[in-house]
Amino acid sequence: MSAASTIVSFPAGALEGEGVVTHRESTPEGAVIVVDRTPFHPVDHTWPDQPGDSGVIGVGDEQARVDEAVMAAVSDEGVFAVGAEIPVKRGAEGWTWLVGHRVAGQAPERLVAGASITLAVDAVRRAGLSRGHTACHLASLALDLAVADLWRKDPGADALGNPDFEGRANQSSRIHEDGAIDEYRLGKSLRRAGFDTETFASTLAAREAQINAQLAAWVSSGASSRIETEGSTIVDRRRWHCELPEGEAVILCGGTHVASLSEFASISVALELTDPQLLVMTTTAVPAD
Ligand SMILES: [Zn+2]
Repeated sequence: MSAASTIVSFPAGALEGEGVVTHRESTPEGAVIVVDRTPFHPVDHTWPDQPGDSGVIGVGDEQARVDEAVMAAVSDEGVFAVGAEIPVKRGAEGWTWLVGHRVAGQAPERLVAGASITLAVDAVRRAGLSRGHTACHLASLALDLAVADLWRKDPGADALGNPDFEGRANQSSRIHEDGAIDEYRLGKSLRRAGFDTETFASTLAAREAQINAQLAAWVSSGASSRIETEGSTIVDRRRWHCELPEGEAVILCGGTHVASLSEFASISVALELTDPQLLVMTTTAVPAD
């Protein structure tokens, strides 16, 4: 198979493209089709926050539905691995990094190495996931700001220069269309790092209100949002940039995002501390008309 990493066009917002199949892998969940270039955003195998794009690939007059785009990799020794089976972190030496398209049902026979195909991402779902991902980042920045007074020691700075609660405590982030769920560990190590969890717990409702006021202000700013890349392949680093009134936020991020905060009618969060060791932040975005 081809030794080059997949070229991706989703960071610039592409939804359609053409490519050549470089590999077809049979898996228990169906065929995974690797293409030299693609507009599909794949779910990351090490930090699976944003689900992979779904859509359609066409070969000749046949079409195949793509359930989800996934990461794939092939080692210099020729070992091919998909998603969670990839035994190394993204970008590790000795591996070529690929986008796989997991095809639903029986894949057309013509969908093999060498075939020229068309690719079309489900635009409605992509837009919803992009709003969910941008809302997730903004909610995290607003959370950092809303708990900034609770640090007795400097935990390091976030993308806006505020104490980095997100970086210290976030243990998982799950993005869906128009929203996200983030989990934060409030255990002993966070207390030892200087965070006042007791005051946080007793002032939860006020903190939530502060986050929501900040999010409303950011949405009304209509700030621009974009992705910058260091190169054109799936393994090149990508960063989300957002020109907030307080300054430009820049966050290392592999996902997709809106072009402007004017794409939102609102973003809001709910904070839950049902387990005193675990903060759950549920973020909900409402698209503008
Ligand atoms: Zn991100």
